[in-house]
Amino acid sequence: MNPRAQDFAEKVADLHLHSRFSDGTYGPEEMAARARQCQLAAIALTDHDSVEGCAGTARACEAAGIEFIPGTELTAEQDGNELHFLGYFIDTQNPRLLTQIARFQAVRQNRIREMVARINRLHVPLSADAVFALANCRAPGRPHVARALVAAGLCATPDEAFERFLRKDRPAWVPKFKMSAKEALELIHQAGGVAVLAHPGLNRTDEVIPGLAEAGMDGLECFHTKHSPATAERYQELAGRFNLLVTGGSDCHGLSKGRVLIGTVKVPYQYVEALRARAAEIKASAAARVTP
Ligand code: AMP
Ligand code: FE
Ligand code: FE
Ligand code: ZN
Repeated sequence: MNPRAQDFAEKVADLHLHSRFSDGTYGPEEMAARARQCQLAAIALTDHDSVEGCAGTARACEAAGIEFIPGTELTAEQDGNELHFLGYFIDTQNPRLLTQIARFQAVRQNRIREMVARINRLHVPLSADAVFALANCRAPGRPHVARALVAAGLCATPDEAFERFLRKDRPAWVPKFKMSAKEALELIHQAGGVAVLAHPGLNRTDEVIPGLAEAGMDGLECFHTKHSPATAERYQELAGRFNLLVTGGSDCHGLSKGRVLIGTVKVPYQYVEALRARAAEIKASAAARVTP
């Protein structure tokens, strides 16, 4: 084995993490400290509809000797199915990305108000301000409503809150505006990012994968907390068939989902190198388009 390959063999990465800037609980320093504890060589921050945590987490990772990959997780829709796209190595200052993210965040905030109004109609006295105070971020979501219900003593656990109110087709569930899958891919690409379909095993809509690959999607998140070994195997096979990159991560939300997951799903560092190489190609072709 050459030294470089050996180097890689020991290095692993967790490429799917949420922080307190979306529905996770860790701030930048704690994220970096946990990553170090788990002996991760690299991590990617993939907050829902947010890149706000990237700058601080990059600094904390640098101090801890961990490589940081800026990312986000965008929600899209195709044929009535919700799809999540991870964007890796995105330019977190990209104007169009920031404009669109601000729109998605406004949609999220309005949706919280609507969910709370529906909860109030059931004579459960939650206030939207309590949810916003607890969320303390620009991209609040249902997990924050669930935690606020628990904090106010109105539900025993977040799970109960989802079961009674927040799950799809429960009384406080509110549909959310979603861009199309094509728009998500384009948004990530024009920001210089690599677009990867998150946790395809949770969508159970594998038939969308060939079309997404055709539309320029770069990769599949084959390894994920909720993918069994057989599921991971199936997506690796699909990735090979459609010439897609392979990624993986724990989808850790800190303490907000009971179990801390960071480091429980890790991928070899070669996958990071492959993502970086693809990001360089995407950035080069974007630059070629603006400078004819
Ligand atoms: P939102 O983006 O507001 O629709 O919320 C989605 C988030 O809620 C994701 O992070 C999910 O993991 C989480 N979530 C969805 N369903 C449940 C559930 N039944 N119990 C706990 N968390 C859930
Ligand atoms: Fe989440
Ligand atoms: Fe997701
Ligand atoms: Zn996620």
